[in-house]
Amino acid sequence: MVKKYRAGNKNDMKKFMKNVEKQVYSSAESGVKNTTHTVECPKCKTSKKIRFKKGVGKCPTCHSRIELDLNWE
Ligand SMILES: [Zn+2]
Repeated sequence: MVKKYRAGNKNDMKKFMKNVEKQVYSSAESGVKNTTHTVECPKCKTSKKIRFKKGVGKCPTCHSRIELDLNWE
């Protein structure tokens, strides 16, 4: 997933800036919107697609509350 950019290249720098913008927007959005993430439940250790409402989701297997960690980058 890591793309390499040539710093002196104009087109590459444009792409780079676009990519940075995209990432900033998408992570900002996930903080406010309801999202679906595949996470591992800390309790039953199963990876499930979980819908999060305002950063809080519920494990469909053991019904424990899962808080979305928004501190990841
Ligand atoms: Zn669970």
